Amino acid sequence: MKTEYDKTGKGKIIMVDDLPENLRTLSHLLKNQGYQVICVSNGEMALEMIQTELPDLVVLDIMLPVIDGYKVCQIVKANPNTSHIPVIFLSGLDSECDKLQAFKAGAIDYITKPFFIEEVIVRIETQLACFQKQRKLEKIIEEQVRERLLAEEKLNQSRALLSSVLNSSADGVAAFESIRDSQGQIVDFRWLVVNPVAAMTVGKTSSSLLDRALYENQPGYIFDGLFDLFLQVVENCIVVEKEHFCDSGQFQAWFHVVAVKLGDGFAMTFRDITERKQMELALRKANQELKHQANVDSLTQIGNRRYFDEYLAQEWARCAREHQYLAIILCDVDYFKAYNDTYGHQAGDECLTRVAQGIKQVIKRPADLVFRYGGEEFALILPNTAEKGALAIAESVRQQIKLLKIPHDTSTVSNYVTLSLGVACIIPDSSHPTSLIVNADRALYKAKSLGRDRVVYAGVELPLS
Ligand code: GH3
Ligand code: MG
Ligand code: MG
Repeated sequence: MKTEYDKTGKGKIIMVDDLPENLRTLSHLLKNQGYQVICVSNGEMALEMIQTELPDLVVLDIMLPVIDGYKVCQIVKANPNTSHIPVIFLSGLDSECDKLQAFKAGAIDYITKPFFIEEVIVRIETQLACFQKQRKLEKIIEEQVRERLLAEEKLNQSRALLSSVLNSSADGVAAFESIRDSQGQIVDFRWLVVNPVAAMTVGKTSSSLLDRALYENQPGYIFDGLFDLFLQVVENCIVVEKEHFCDSGQFQAWFHVVAVKLGDGFAMTFRDITERKQMELALRKANQELKHQANVDSLTQIGNRRYFDEYLAQEWARCAREHQYLAIILCDVDYFKAYNDTYGHQAGDECLTRVAQGIKQVIKRPADLVFRYGGEEFALILPNTAEKGALAIAESVRQQIKLLKIPHDTSTVSNYVTLSLGVACIIPDSSHPTSLIVNADRALYKAKSLGRDRVVYAGVELPLS
């Protein structure tokens, strides 16, 4: 391992010369200047010392016993632990050939003996400064490389985590980037990320989707009809959460789709909720059926008494709020006991059904409803209707039933089934709607007592035409 530049002193120098007196003055001066100096007298010792001390610089003589300076330098340079240590040759040999060999062996400088001591010191200091700078630079690079490796490792870890999350998700997860035309308008989206569930849902593999256009490559598929919404997600940062029904002919399914903006695109999760949706729809239908059954009279298929009470209370409150008239008409089949006695109960049921449908045909406004009020009694609730309008409808109902020409041989008022009708209306106040029913009932009673087959308004007989 490489040592750091000696921070405690100015540096550690190993000086190698078989005649130590040659270096005495030089080493003395260097020590005085703050360097740690180790002197050795042969190549073998020099190698051992360099290995153990890992100096910042070696000053090396060439002519040494056992191993010469060139060899020492070569061995130092060949060893990765010491190859960085600068070597300066200090030798009596001054031929170009010697110098060349020294530099070939790896020296960074060559000083010939006899030397000028200040020059040697300057050269040593220069080389040490260079070495120091180089070591600092190396350290910075090493640190940067270490940080980068660390960042890469973290990135890899988070990628692995992300992909395991994506792969284990039961939802389809995908990310898209906008594809824009030359005017900058979004024309499509490109698959950037796609997990296995998402790929499976669209019937493809992840790799076949990546970088492909969403709409261009899959027309008529599950995201049809969502382009404008995705556009809003990207352009207006809107979060979309939607239950989306896709119907591509042979394939029908419901998806719960959530899309959020991500860069110049969006991320989306989607879940197949077809099963839940089908159950929901079946439940809604069953509820509607139940509600229908709870509100509808099973014989005549018009509203029943329960629904009459509910609707009257509702319209009473609404008309009270809006200061509008509310009218009701009570209708009773004339001599119906006799009808049953003559034609039988079954025929009586059929007659009631025809009468109910006959009354229903008269009313036109959606808010006007007809109910079976009791046995052979019917009621109409007419919101936003005053006396005149209510009487007109009651009279139409009376005529309509006569027009049905249901034979009634035992009626004393007509050869056909007839109705008696009692009408009442009011602008509701805070009181209860019972008063309105009582008034209509009194009017009906009056109609009966006046001879039947007629309309009476709140106790006052209508001048019949
Ligand atoms: P009025 O002209 O005074 O109304 O005489 P009415 O005979 O019509 O009146 P009453 O109240 O005496 O008799 C009503 C009859 O209606 C008695 C009952 O058996 C019959 N009725 C009630 N509900 C039904 C039903 O659902 N089906 C049949 N077939 N008859 C019913
Ligand atoms: Mg009756
Ligand atoms: Mg009757």
